[in-house]
Amino acid sequence: MTGLREVIIIGGGLAGLSAALYLGRSRRDTLLIHSGRSMAKWEVNVQNYLGFPDGIDGTDLLTRGHAQVARFHVEIIEDEVRTLTKDDDTFHLQCQQADYYAKRVLIATGLTHLPPDIPGVKDCLGKSLFFCKDCDAYRVQGKRIVIIGRNNEAADYALAMLLFSPSVMIATNGQVPTWDSDHTGWLKEYQITIRQDRICMVEHDEGHLRDLTFEQGDPMKLDVAFTTRGDVYHNDLAEDVGASIDTEGEIIVDASLKTSVAGLYAAGCVTAANCQMIIAAGQGAIAGQAINRDLFDESLGRHALPRLGQPVHQM
Ligand SMILES: Cc1cc2nc3c(=O)[nH]c(=O)nc-3n(C[C@H](O)[C@H](O)[C@H](O)COP(=O)(O)OP(=O)(O)OC[C@H]3O[C@@H](n4cnc5c(N)ncnc54)[C@H](O)[C@@H]3O)c2cc1C
Repeated sequence: MTGLREVIIIGGGLAGLSAALYLGRSRRDTLLIHSGRSMAKWEVNVQNYLGFPDGIDGTDLLTRGHAQVARFHVEIIEDEVRTLTKDDDTFHLQCQQADYYAKRVLIATGLTHLPPDIPGVKDCLGKSLFFCKDCDAYRVQGKRIVIIGRNNEAADYALAMLLFSPSVMIATNGQVPTWDSDHTGWLKEYQITIRQDRICMVEHDEGHLRDLTFEQGDPMKLDVAFTTRGDVYHNDLAEDVGASIDTEGEIIVDASLKTSVAGLYAAGCVTAANCQMIIAAGQGAIAGQAINRDLFDESLGRHALPRLGQPVHQM
């Protein structure tokens, strides 16, 4: 088949780029297709990615990753993959602009954190409204923090934040709390203020939170908010091709990041990995190595081991 690639990676975030780096340096014929919407772009000061003591802008990290990957002859295309199907051993990717075929596919499409549906929130994303305490708690020490949520996770966030601030509250935004009796006890024990009124809007100065206003009662003064509303996993391509997905929406993978479909791999936040940049990059590396090994084993089995000097597309 003309145009059959050894590997196609869907996604140009930390997981996809890291896999591409490993596959390019393994001399695999690799195409990376991405739609330009990595979540890493939301963070202008990444402080927990090893090797950048002064922090790094997420967009800068991606730009460096693209340049590094391109150096090892990985082709990178900006396009949106619409459908993914498999016929015998060949994957077919239908994109907005063209169709592509591959022997192996890695899905590294990530997820989207859902912000609360409150006027003003969007302006504050990544500046004073955060999703992840492991990424952002350290940088908000001593600030007035509100957790917007009503479940066990929201209660855990509030309790964990006491290590970072003496001023931690929960706003359930008009919802009845669903946390269990253990969490009820802990919230009481540590005297966490809980406000159940519906939030009207978020008031801020250029994305820096100032007040939450409610349908009833006084506004709440605050500096930062965390939210635990949930995530949308970009798993539709995995679903197209019949890969197993858990009840949360995460693509199910084994330790080599293989899915339930032969030849299909998944890495990064679209799996059950804790959604952090360095973890996504690590998973990409594992997937890249596993795919390379898989192709190696297959060519040994076919007595068709690729050799130096042979055009890559004949491998
Ligand atoms: C506000 C905010 C702040 C954050 N701060 C930090 C932080 O400080 N430290 C940290 O470790 N993490 C942070 N994160 C999380 C971090 O962004 C993710 O862990 C990381 O980006 C995950 O990498 P990934 O490769 O799995 O997914 P992503 O980086 O999201 O990449 C997904 C890729 O898939 C592509 N894609 C999706 N669907 C398709 C399709 N159909 N066709 C083609 N391409 C497709 C996208 O365009 C993108 O290129 C933050 C996230 C947010 C929202």
